[in-house]
Amino acid sequence: MVQGILISLLNPVLALILSGLFLKLWLERPAHRHILLFSTGYLGYAAAFGLQATYWPLGYPANGLLSNLFLLYAYIAVIHGIMLRRRQPTPFLALGVLGALGAAGQFWFALVEPDMTGRIYAVNFCYGTMMLVVAACMYSFRNKTPVERVLFAVALTIGLYSFVRTIGVSLMEGHIADRAQYVGSLTWLVLNFSAAFFALLFALTLAYMVVLDAMQDLRAESMTDLLSGLLNRRGFEEHGRRALAHSDRIGVPAVLLICDIDHFKSVNDRFGHVCGDQVITAFGRCLGDAAGGEHVTARIGGEEFAVVLAGANLKTGRLFAEAVRNACSMLRVSGLPEDCAVTASFGVAEKQAGEDLTSLMRRADAALYEAKRRGRDRVRSAEAHMVKTGTDDSQPLSSARTGG
Ligand code: GH3
Ligand code: MG
Ligand code: MG
Repeated sequence: MVQGILISLLNPVLALILSGLFLKLWLERPAHRHILLFSTGYLGYAAAFGLQATYWPLGYPANGLLSNLFLLYAYIAVIHGIMLRRRQPTPFLALGVLGALGAAGQFWFALVEPDMTGRIYAVNFCYGTMMLVVAACMYSFRNKTPVERVLFAVALTIGLYSFVRTIGVSLMEGHIADRAQYVGSLTWLVLNFSAAFFALLFALTLAYMVVLDAMQDLRAESMTDLLSGLLNRRGFEEHGRRALAHSDRIGVPAVLLICDIDHFKSVNDRFGHVCGDQVITAFGRCLGDAAGGEHVTARIGGEEFAVVLAGANLKTGRLFAEAVRNACSMLRVSGLPEDCAVTASFGVAEKQAGEDLTSLMRRADAALYEAKRRGRDRVRSAEAHMVKTGTDDSQPLSSARTGG
């Protein structure tokens, strides 16, 4: 008797603990609504099994129907959470139809033609199919992470197991007529233990996925510059090295461009630090838009930016720099008078065979220094393996504004 109560409490207590775990994770990251869905899903699961165990407050068989509603909510909440995390549509219609079929089966075998075995089949087949639906949805995810593959495998296993267990145990045990025969039966025992095992396995996989997501976000944040939204210096070094190695591997050229806003100190001095920040933000956006998502773009210092253009040579790198120089000189920043244009100087260097990021940056930086020295608001390119100190190879395309 005591043993029976303990077994029937196994699932509700376990699901309550798991719901609490997801609630705690969600409180740490409240913007991630899918974690709250996992928490409420497991709460629904706890309620469903709790109602089955106690048969309170509606008694038999209405309590079973109520329990089924909670179970339906639990499945839909967790599946919706999985899809929401991936910004994919949740198959509510398919889940709703399956839920309605399960409830209809329950209703039929509880009230119209009372039969416990029929109810067990109806409920387990319905939720088994739901797990196969979620597995099918996850299978269609593009670029699945390893933990998503594990979650897919767990969902598929739970789905298939629901059919195998229900049929297998039913064949072994024979027909179960009513609830009195059901509680304590082999079917009941196997159901309670396997439900607990799979609920735990599924929740741990979900929790692992949530923790990995958080770690990945933290890593991305540690490499992002808040003001410009571009990579910061650390992010630039990591992604820049990777981009150079990749261009080496596939045998295409690569160009590094470093640019620095001209007379930025005087912007701060004349119009205030807040206005200076807005100039950095606007310049970063202008550069990011020009480079597009596929190139490594970063704010590597106060008002200094860098871009790695994989696949570009010195000529196209220079053309790109000129285009950015023109676009940015037309920027309008609130707080900055109309006649006060933002100009910048650019140094461009093409990667030589075997050259690393540090050396490439040194050469691009020297070219930038030369652009500053020559009057600012212009592009200078670096010679291979040496800093050009000769004639100015890069007069500004427009001589409208040149710095001092
Ligand atoms: P140059 O044309 O030679 O580049 O001169 P500059 O005035 O742009 O360069 P300088 O190095 O003399 O001054 C850069 C200034 O940028 C000094 C620093 O206070 C300011 N700065 C650095 N980071 C930030 C920031 O995040 N926000 C603002 N508003 N200013 C910054
Ligand atoms: Mg500057
Ligand atoms: Mg500077």
